[in-house]
Amino acid sequence: MPDDELRNPQVAELRIALESLGLSTKGQVKVLKERLRKAKKRTQDSAVETESNSSESAIESNASEATEEPVVARKVQQPFDFYCVFDVEATCREDNVGWKHEVIEFPVVLVCGRTFETIAEFRSFVRPVLNPVLSDFCTQLTGITQDQVDSAPTFPEVLKLFESFLSRYKVKHGRMRFITDGPWDIRDFVRNQCVYSDIRRPAYFDTYLDLRRIFTKFYGRKGGKRANLNGMLSLLNMEFEGRQHSGIDDTRNIAKIAVCLMEKGCVFDSTLR
Ligand code: AMP
Ligand code: MG
Ligand code: MG
Repeated sequence: MPDDELRNPQVAELRIALESLGLSTKGQVKVLKERLRKAKKRTQDSAVETESNSSESAIESNASEATEEPVVARKVQQPFDFYCVFDVEATCREDNVGWKHEVIEFPVVLVCGRTFETIAEFRSFVRPVLNPVLSDFCTQLTGITQDQVDSAPTFPEVLKLFESFLSRYKVKHGRMRFITDGPWDIRDFVRNQCVYSDIRRPAYFDTYLDLRRIFTKFYGRKGGKRANLNGMLSLLNMEFEGRQHSGIDDTRNIAKIAVCLMEKGCVFDSTLR
């Protein structure tokens, strides 16, 4: 630990907060405090700007759709009918080098692109096949127990259940996009899992929207690292609810950020990928 963090524990806290926002952690306590204050202010200022922009378009859409659905008409229409917010958990060890991560939790929060409301949730644990025994580290990290995965369906079976869920809510695959916190869930975990399960990757996983990228773009932050889940929540003055690394709790918190951005006028379009 650097000397200044030992002398002043607040410095360590400030550095953790800045790191989660993707900002530099260099400098002394005064500099760190100022950097954090400015980051939060920038986010709030641009939120105010986008909110006033979106209320302008709300006035226009109210004029043309005045009597039908006034509450819905105030919102900026999203280009997709549905969003599947998605955050998988996978088998892991403390040292993941060379480890084949298998999906063990498959949680989805289904959000309506018109009202931004949560329509339903889908959640299944998934039974790993290559390494069926979870490490203690993995159970401690994710809260997922051996019993939960032992009695769960395999990945291809979970995909079938997920597809039935989509049909039940009349979700057309082409009118839906996944929203994930970073690229790892679909680009890495799902793609590799399809190889391990020896199945063709379903087309609905061909594309996804990375919330970290969308967040950075919406707030016009240039360069540097992107804010992580806790960083984005903190910039929006929200807190993580539930248990970190529980797939369903992570998913609900990601959905909270996505919906908050939608309400501020952020458009969740493919072009933002
Ligand atoms: P998350 O969505 O952040 O909960 O992470 C998804 C998956 O990444 C977890 O289920 C683990 O397999 C892996 N993972 C996340 N954080 C760690 C960590 N600190 N050490 C090892 N694996 C991790
Ligand atoms: Mg995640
Ligand atoms: Mg997670």
